[in-house]
Amino acid sequence: MNIIGNSDILDEYYRYQRPEFFITITGKGNKKRTALINISDICVAINRSLPEVIKYYCYELGTSYKLIEAHHTLKGEFTVRVLDEILHKYIQNFVLCKDCNNPDTFYKIRKTKVKKICSACGYVEKLYPDNKLIEYILKEKKKIDFNINCQSFS
Ligand SMILES: [Zn+2]
Repeated sequence: MNIIGNSDILDEYYRYQRPEFFITITGKGNKKRTALINISDICVAINRSLPEVIKYYCYELGTSYKLIEAHHTLKGEFTVRVLDEILHKYIQNFVLCKDCNNPDTFYKIRKTKVKKICSACGYVEKLYPDNKLIEYILKEKKKIDFNINCQSFS
């Protein structure tokens, strides 16, 4: 399916595609979990990190994550439709360029600010830190910088 998902790009040659969700439900009662079998492939297709996308699902669904037997699982039972809707929202906010709608974007991170930059048209969008996911992105960036600094001194 095309990356923009529920929108009306009818061009079958639209080059930004992502796999459809493939999930399985495990467990019973309140032990039910949804295994996102091909979430890694979806993340590759939308060019975003797996931990970030999973974090977003946890925030949106108010649930928790666990790696079980090499499967990325969320606590609770969720349908592909719900997962699609959340991914659509994530792509709208964190992947697509606000100006030209191109999904070819990347983050530029400075101390307390995250900017989303479009590779196609150069549009720069500020993403505001009053958002849990932005807080998470900033925290992760700090960890990476810390590790790099430690390595360069050793
Ligand atoms: Zn753009």
